[in-house]
Amino acid sequence: MSETIFSKILRGEIPCHRVYEDALVLAFMDINPIAPGHTLVIPKEARATLAELSDDSAAAIGRVLPRICRAVMQATGATAYNVLQNNGVGAHQAVFHVHFHVIPKVAPSGPGSGLGITWPVTKPSSEELAAMAQRIAATLAASPA
Ligand code: AMP
Repeated sequence: MSETIFSKILRGEIPCHRVYEDALVLAFMDINPIAPGHTLVIPKEARATLAELSDDSAAAIGRVLPRICRAVMQATGATAYNVLQNNGVGAHQAVFHVHFHVIPKVAPSGPGSGLGITWPVTKPSSEELAAMAQRIAATLAASPA
């Protein structure tokens, strides 16, 4: 169990600008948005990373995420957006309670423009891709649903 600033928000000990809540999910405005409308969607279950989340919480987020994306886009007028979910310090996670960022993309660059991405492409061979796919598939087959 991870005790974080989001646990305090969930308990009502610190305020948030709430946009959605159900039995398993809360969504609220990011306090330091990188674009107008930048929203966080979190499970009420306290888990640090997505891989640790229960199927029930994951399903609850999956059910509501598209609806929240539609609302953010409609409210902001943005036509493009990113959904970002960071896991681990190396992947830029700062708050160790699972959260999905819904981030309108409003300009190519600059403050408040939305997510800037570098996409460091590599060119693996077909054999390398097949070997990796086999490793991941075998791990999945061996792990319980
Ligand atoms: P990440 O780097 O994916 O862990 O992002 C954590 C996000 O939580 C950042 O975008 C922060 O601005 C946001 N955040 C931290 N504290 C609060 C808070 N009290 N209310 C709303 N958002 C917050």
